[in-house]
Amino acid sequence: MPAKRTITVVGGGVIGLTTAYALIRAGHSVTLVEQEEHVGEQASFGNGGQLSYRYVRPLADAGVPLEALSWMVRPDSPISLRLRLDWKQWRWLTDFLLACNARTNSANAARLLKLALQSQLALHQWRQDGLADFLWRKPGKLVAYRNAQKFSKAAKNVKNPQQEQVLTPADCARVEPAFAGLSPTLAGGIFSPDDEVADCYLFCQSLLKSLQNSKEFRLINGVATLEAGQAGACQVRVNGALLPTDLVVLAAGLASRTLVQPLGLTLPLYGLKGYSLTVEADPVLLPDVSVTDYDNRVVYARLGERLRIAAMVDIGALNASPDPQRIASLRHLAEETLPAAGPYASAVTWAGMRPATPTGVPLVERTQWRNLLLNVGHGALGFTLSCGAAVTIRDLVEEMQP
Ligand SMILES: Cc1cc2nc3c(=O)[nH]c(=O)nc-3n(C[C@H](O)[C@H](O)[C@H](O)COP(=O)(O)OP(=O)(O)OC[C@H]3O[C@@H](n4cnc5c(N)ncnc54)[C@H](O)[C@@H]3O)c2cc1C
Repeated sequence: MPAKRTITVVGGGVIGLTTAYALIRAGHSVTLVEQEEHVGEQASFGNGGQLSYRYVRPLADAGVPLEALSWMVRPDSPISLRLRLDWKQWRWLTDFLLACNARTNSANAARLLKLALQSQLALHQWRQDGLADFLWRKPGKLVAYRNAQKFSKAAKNVKNPQQEQVLTPADCARVEPAFAGLSPTLAGGIFSPDDEVADCYLFCQSLLKSLQNSKEFRLINGVATLEAGQAGACQVRVNGALLPTDLVVLAAGLASRTLVQPLGLTLPLYGLKGYSLTVEADPVLLPDVSVTDYDNRVVYARLGERLRIAAMVDIGALNASPDPQRIASLRHLAEETLPAAGPYASAVTWAGMRPATPTGVPLVERTQWRNLLLNVGHGALGFTLSCGAAVTIRDLVEEMQP
């Protein structure tokens, strides 16, 4: 039986909450610090809702820089770049470009796949043990390709044909009839029957509710800062007071970059802004399967009786406020692709910053500070990877001697 530790988790997004949950289940005592009044209200709030365990290829890939240049001239471009006089942006972009080759992409995709499958297993276990009420479903996911070359590359990358079925346009329409209107424009699709969807914000609320049933859990609302303590340990200060703690897990999303500065650490994190629309539609017209329109990089997921549509990567955005032009473009794209699922005019709009590393691989690891662990940088896959990253942290904690 591993020793019981007192652990502070900084950040109450999906990553901090799953971490706290995994640690409480392992018998530790956990204090979660969240600066907002409620948990799950930043990047974890209005995301695409896809638990995309099989499709985990990072954005950094061969050909992406050239493709991105052609996108720049489109107002509804999947990626927009605003260069700034900011060394953090230049550093991140340089590392991103260095990762844009097939070998690095494949190696990173393999690491992400391992973590994603671990995540799926952990969530399955947690659901069996009673975690509920977050609109979880397992409808499978269809990645639809319009471009024949990209489709053929994706089809060649399929490792397990049971888990990733290569489909013709007619098969795509059969798998998800709501998208049948698209089939004449498609080259084909890849269907992952085991992929899931859920509402990430409701998942955060369920985790918190369950955590609050434990006497070993405490939530503190306040802004945490990190500082150097004795003998290579770091300390957490909240509302002016130091928290007594054995270990600290930093899971503060994008803000983690600034939080570690007093400790002399530099994290390769950058905020990639994305957008979502949530449409209340007639349930009969909503797609059942979750769909990614690959060429436009738009994802569609039915969450209960609503349709969540998420897309776009803005590099160089200063904050998470929704840009009306980008929202209008997304609304237009969605309306063109899935006209019946409206009413789009009354869609709830949202934007958030994905806390991204250049390679797409999160930092789930120990640091040179003997009591500090990182669980940050999950980028476009934070919901998908959250449970796997949380159990990885649990295992690292158990390896650390008191
Ligand atoms: C448009 C969009 C669509 C997406 N779609 C998907 C999807 O379909 N599937 C998927 O897997 N992922 C998706 N993602 C990615 C996913 O949402 C993120 O990776 C994930 O939410 C990151 O979680 P986090 O806990 O690291 O960050 P956050 O949710 O931002 O949580 C960090 C928390 O730390 C708190 N905090 C910060 N600083 C401090 C401090 N000093 N003291 C105390 N608290 C602090 C913040 O208030 C916040 O609550 C999407 C993201 C976007 C933007």
